[in-house]
Amino acid sequence: MDDKALFFKILGLRPPWFIKQVVVDDQSQRVDIYVDHEPDIRVRCPVCDELYGLYDHAPERVYRHLNTCQMQTFIHVRPPRVNCPHHGVKQIGSEFGENGSEMTFSFESFMIRVAQECSIEATARLCGLSWDQSWNGLQRAVERGRARKPHRVPRRIGVDEKSIARGHKYESLVYDIDAGTVEFVWDDRGQESLESYYRQFSREELAGVEAVAMDMWDPYIAATKQYVPRAEKKIVFDRFHVMRHVLDAVDKVRKSEHRQLSERGEQTLKGTKYLWLWSRENLPAWRQGQFEALRSLDLKVCRAWAIKENLRHLWDYRYGNQS
Ligand SMILES: [Zn+2]
Repeated sequence: MDDKALFFKILGLRPPWFIKQVVVDDQSQRVDIYVDHEPDIRVRCPVCDELYGLYDHAPERVYRHLNTCQMQTFIHVRPPRVNCPHHGVKQIGSEFGENGSEMTFSFESFMIRVAQECSIEATARLCGLSWDQSWNGLQRAVERGRARKPHRVPRRIGVDEKSIARGHKYESLVYDIDAGTVEFVWDDRGQESLESYYRQFSREELAGVEAVAMDMWDPYIAATKQYVPRAEKKIVFDRFHVMRHVLDAVDKVRKSEHRQLSERGEQTLKGTKYLWLWSRENLPAWRQGQFEALRSLDLKVCRAWAIKENLRHLWDYRYGNQS
């Protein structure tokens, strides 16, 4: 089998396409494959799908492809154009890669699998690409995914923020609680960003939203009230966020009371931080005695702790007339 027949087979080409030339440059460790087609092909207009004779070619495109052994491999192709009487001169899409991409579909999908495992910098290094090329590849994959996403408002929406860059920056995301899918991501925690998510939908569509779970964060609340009809009945502060605020409050009470006691020379609350934060059933057995003794004292933190423990039952609470 000669090199042309070999590449014809492994690239999965079919007539009228053929390999015109293969150039192996061992100096630069690079393989260039030139693909061409028989002269008298018929070309489909990409708009109306009708077949016409070949009009001409768009300028040559070069796609980076999967390596041939250790050598970087490039495919050269001149995309045929059609002159449709209804739609004018059109370039047909290539089977090798997306318009505007410098990579074949196979190489791009390999690159994306690498990018799922490591940073953009590492992906660029491992794939022999520039940072921009890797980033653009990812960007195209995201665009394709978004284009495939149906236009639909989730029934139950979650809005959450994540701190990135060691807590110096935030990004926010909207997710579909039932499907477990991320619907929208942006790189701050502002009102305007969440509003731009809601603006994709009509008021009727947003009326179908049953609940929006979120942190107690004013910009999210304001954006939701602005766009989701009857939002005040639908905003839900999720348990995790509520309990985080309550635990912070308990800890504040303990700190300030400890300070006051210390000023009088009393070390009653020293080393007790977690006794008040742990859920009652998680208190280690060996500290139970100490904790019961503290609870019998008249302390503000005891009251704060009792409120916190009480609140935990809120989520299991049922009204008397419901089962
Ligand atoms: Zn046409």
